Order: sequence, then structure tokens, then C-alpha cells
Amino acid sequence: MTAPERRAALDALAAEVRACTACRLHAGRTNAVPGEGDPMTEVVFVGEGPGVNEDRLGRPFVGRAGDLLVRLLASIGWQRGDVFITNIVKCRPPDNRDPEPDEVAACAPYLRRQLQVLDPALVVTLGRHSMSRFMPGTTISRAHGTTAPVDPATGAATARVFAMYHPAAALRAAAIETASFADTTLIPAALMEARRLRDPSTTATFAPAPPDAGPTPVDAAPQPSETDQLTLFT
Ligand code: SF4
Repeated sequence: MTAPERRAALDALAAEVRACTACRLHAGRTNAVPGEGDPMTEVVFVGEGPGVNEDRLGRPFVGRAGDLLVRLLASIGWQRGDVFITNIVKCRPPDNRDPEPDEVAACAPYLRRQLQVLDPALVVTLGRHSMSRFMPGTTISRAHGTTAPVDPATGAATARVFAMYHPAAALRAAAIETASFADTTLIPAALMEARRLRDPSTTATFAPAPPDAGPTPVDAAPQPSETDQLTLFT
């Protein structure tokens, strides 16, 4: 699919989401939050559900957790517009409770169809609800910072998944924030591995920062070389 075709397909899906009444979450929403980003990206971030700021603005990850996600991306030289960001459920659960299983099931076709359009090489899960969709049978404390194959039934036909803590959890615990910055340094290598596995002719390599590097101030963040940055999203 060309970029305009992907954009049109994603816009049509977003319009469906905004009109959706398939689960009880539609009753409390101000705005549905379909997701946003580069239609030609190779990397899709999947969180759990919109919070109060996301519900108010109709955009994913725009509150404090979103600010942290931007800092995490910046630590490897990426911007949020380089990737696509969405959630497991597209409408805000009341009082920021966890989404119920029937709500997750009702919303699943939208994410599956988004992934079919985007055809990412790498799905980055943020938090345990998202992780359990793509990496079932484990725990977030064990799985964060690791990759696994993705079940094509999710809509991501030839992707790998990389698990991370939810940024909101990182805001509540310094140790999780430290782990999140360390995990983020592994994303470029996970992308390169995902590319290689779905296209063995890919020979580019990427040397990640050491996983125990810890939080890195954005101003001093190590930047991938210009060549690496160009090759990540072309
Ligand atoms: S959460 Fe998903 S399934 Fe439920 S109303 Fe919103 S878009 Fe529809």
C-alpha cells in the first residue's frame, strides 16, 4: 500500500472508532482515541487505554505518560511522529480502571485492522494488558526488554514484539523508569532483528547502548549516527 492509501485506510478506521458503540466505554468518552502516527512506519507502540488527557484531546499519550514516552523515544534519537501510537481500547475506562475482558474483545478488531494496514516490523507493547495480547503467558516483570514472534492473528503478519513497562508505571516508580530507559536502548536492535527475520537480505546492523545505562538526560542522549537514523524509517 502507498502512503496515501495507508493514510486513507487509517482515517476510515478512525472514523469508525469515533462512531463506535460496541462496548460500554462509549458512554463515558469525550473523544475516542483511535491512534496517530506515520502511516509508513515500521514500529507501532500499543498502550492500554486513553486517560483523562487523551479522552479530552482525542489523541494517544498526551499527558505526563506521553511526555515520558517522548523522552524515551528521544533517548534513542526518535520522535513520536516517526512511529504509530495506539491503545488496546480506544475509549477511556472510567476512573482509569483496567479495561474489562469484554471491552478488550469488543475493541480488538480495530487494533487488528490497524496492524493489517501498517504491517509493522516491530510492535512495542506498553504495559501488561498490551503485552498479554502479543506475548501471552508471561509477566511484564519477566518480559520487559525482550522480543518474541507475533501471532499473525493479531494483524501484524510478520512482526516481532518488544515488551516495555507502561510509562504511567514508570512515573510511579523510579526503578521502573530506569528499566524503561534501559529497555528503550534495545529497541533499535530489536527493529533491526525484526527486519532481518522478515527479510533475510537485510544486512544493516545497529549497536545499542548497554542495557544497564539507566536514564539518560535528553540533552546528553547518545544519538544514532545520521546513517542509522536514515535507515531506521526508510
Ligand atoms: S472502546 Fe473500542 S469497542 Fe468500546 S466503544 Fe470504544 S471503540 Fe468501540
